[in-house]
Amino acid sequence: MNNSSAVLILDKVSKSYGNGLAVDEVSLNIRENEFFALLGPSGCGKTTLLRMLAGFETPSAGCIYLDGKDISPLPANKRPLNLMFQSYALFPNMTVRKNIAYGLEMERLPEAEIRRRVDDVLNTAQLGELAERKPDQLSGGQRQRVALARALVKRPRVLLLDEPLGALDKKLREKMQLELKRLQLESGITFIIVTHDQEEALVMSDRMAVLDGGKVCQCGSPTELYENPNSRFVANFIGVSNLFEGARTGQHTVRVNGQELAVVTDAPLVPGQNVAVVVRPERLQVLAQEGGACDNQVSGQIVEIAYHGLDTNVHVQTVLSDKALIVRVPSSQFEFAHFAIGMSIRLGWQARHARVLTR
Ligand code: ATP
Repeated sequence: MNNSSAVLILDKVSKSYGNGLAVDEVSLNIRENEFFALLGPSGCGKTTLLRMLAGFETPSAGCIYLDGKDISPLPANKRPLNLMFQSYALFPNMTVRKNIAYGLEMERLPEAEIRRRVDDVLNTAQLGELAERKPDQLSGGQRQRVALARALVKRPRVLLLDEPLGALDKKLREKMQLELKRLQLESGITFIIVTHDQEEALVMSDRMAVLDGGKVCQCGSPTELYENPNSRFVANFIGVSNLFEGARTGQHTVRVNGQELAVVTDAPLVPGQNVAVVVRPERLQVLAQEGGACDNQVSGQIVEIAYHGLDTNVHVQTVLSDKALIVRVPSSQFEFAHFAIGMSIRLGWQARHARVLTR
């Protein structure tokens, strides 16, 4: 592993509570200026991992290195890491400016420097006009920005964020996702964010780690994880997947319920091995007739049509799986007259869009 640009290295970090293992030998390498997401279902150990980085929990085993130094002996307040809590914990009786300045005042920095740094961050977080307001005179999104500004002003080496957008409604969340990304880019600080929302992780992060049962299942860029999931779990957790269970019959073939599917894979051939084939909804095409240029084809019956604004998902029952396949059609190309529940339809996809999962 190339550690040269790593800010933070987690080396087989574990945490047990009684007999339960909340975090199980997690090794990760987080880089300079990276927006890194820890993603996984409830109880997978995300928060515990973040709290160990912040110094609020002690690992049962393993080491955490910051800039090459083992930080395990350092208490939370001595670590150049800042944790932003889900509840923003702003001081209600202080103005926005005072809230942001507070941490620097505690460090007894010179007044002029405090003013300069606070002005800087007020500007970056677009809070200049709200500087003299109190938290209860702000909207949810503005309060969130104040909490971020308060964390950024201290210029931590790494900013840790636990579900930072959890308290916001969907529309504001989407706006703040882009805002958070901009703030990270402009500040040049490494961000590690915990989220259970896979869409949020895909939009914001440079890389992400998917956790399950305290273990890292896969770590990579959003495109890597979406296009090349390494397991059924990751394929199902990130985005929508069409999964077909079958058996390997050749290097580039998998038999699914009597039908031979063409796939592209480097996975070594173990004849008869039970595998899953995953195809993303946007890779499925609706075919006008049999034949044509698709490597794989199947017929089915439309069982549901779900309109999502930008896209329409057509659910099609086929022989390939018990669950209906989902085909995503851009609504701009969708002609309602051509699709109806109960209608027979033919679908196709290329072998290169079919991934083989052995786990
Ligand atoms: P969520 O998304 O629901 O917040 P999470 O992925 O952040 O979940 P953690 O809070 O890290 O999960 O918890 C991981 C596991 O460790 C869970 O099974 C939880 O019950 C357990 N756990 C966490 N903190 C403690 C504790 N202080 N004592 C005992 N068990 C704990």
